[in-house]
Amino acid sequence: MYTCNKDRIQNKIETFATFGDAGNGGITRFSLSDEALQARAEFVKRMKAVGVETVTDDMANMYATLPGTEPGLPRIVMASHCDSVRNGGNYDGILGVISAMEVVETIAIEKIPHRHPITAMIWTNEEGSLYPPAMMSSGVVCGKFLKDKILASKSPEGKTFGEALEQSGYAGDEANRLNPNDYMAMLELHIEQGPVLEAEKKEIGVVVGVLGMVNYRIRTYGQSDHAGTTPMAYRRDALLAAASALKYLHTELDKLDSNLVYTTGNIICHPNIHTVIPDHVDFSLDARHQNPEVIKQVVEVIKNMPKEFDKCEVKYQEAWARKTVNFNEELVGLVQKSADAFGYTSKKMYSGAGHDAQYVADMIPTTMIFVPSKDGHSHCELEFTSVEECWRGINVLLQTVLEVDKK
Ligand SMILES: [Zn+2]
Repeated sequence: MYTCNKDRIQNKIETFATFGDAGNGGITRFSLSDEALQARAEFVKRMKAVGVETVTDDMANMYATLPGTEPGLPRIVMASHCDSVRNGGNYDGILGVISAMEVVETIAIEKIPHRHPITAMIWTNEEGSLYPPAMMSSGVVCGKFLKDKILASKSPEGKTFGEALEQSGYAGDEANRLNPNDYMAMLELHIEQGPVLEAEKKEIGVVVGVLGMVNYRIRTYGQSDHAGTTPMAYRRDALLAAASALKYLHTELDKLDSNLVYTTGNIICHPNIHTVIPDHVDFSLDARHQNPEVIKQVVEVIKNMPKEFDKCEVKYQEAWARKTVNFNEELVGLVQKSADAFGYTSKKMYSGAGHDAQYVADMIPTTMIFVPSKDGHSHCELEFTSVEECWRGINVLLQTVLEVDKK
């Protein structure tokens, strides 16, 4: 069996870590920023070094394709993203790009026989850090978002994504977009971004899908009054009510399936002044589970919540939701077979985070491979996966590509 090259992998990790180095062992590399353009240039350079040209589509997604021996066959594509959140790490997204490059390099350098063209790809603006939403370009290519609406997306400084795209010099031809005629499968290697593989001492995550989720806004309505002159018994404190509502929701949600995860990560308190009793609080509730029935139970808990806490009215509204995405079973099976062939320990699992692969899964057969994240850290500078762990994952990616190539 073929394996990839550890030194080359390490060299790529170290090199890409310099583009947007934020000085604390991590990076800030927003999509289409100068730092991201450096990373793109490095991708083009390294692909060219093994004789592979890179083209871009109209969303600046990048495609470097190594031809196969049989003309006219559809491509096998490996893809991820090279942009990051603010003060992010050196592995989220970029490891998938490095893996795709490493597989193309290995196949080209070792002259591994293959029939289909094999493509290493970069999706533009997966994080949506500067220009929301996340998974923007896969969303456009896979028909989830309208391009015109996306081009108008503004950074906090007021620059549009369309302007950034134009200035980047990477906007290419719409005809180059990933499509179901020219592509037969997409594989994305990614760090787990959670603690499970490490805790269970598994080397490879065989990803079977992306968890469905709902996101609600819960609002409480009280009365603003003076913090010094209003006795406690006379108050209608919207923040106290929000705390009570949150406590109630935790108690009820904890009675549901133990794999359910839920979070309140955003809270708006009005008027947010230390001398004024809050009259209005609005907080998020994000809940994720692979089984739509459990998600339904979450919604029931929210709907059956008391209409009033601490003399304050409580209302709720769904902000958005996504269905569980199940990846292509045949591809999942090939990832499992490849991991087994190397003798790596593995675990079938769902992704709790969103990825470009979940949109692509609606268009062509798609799946993902996870490698462990040290202490589960991600979207921060502490992100870490050892070269050895990356190497195992990339070997599985290479072997899976070669298995798909037999089809
Ligand atoms: Zn990512």
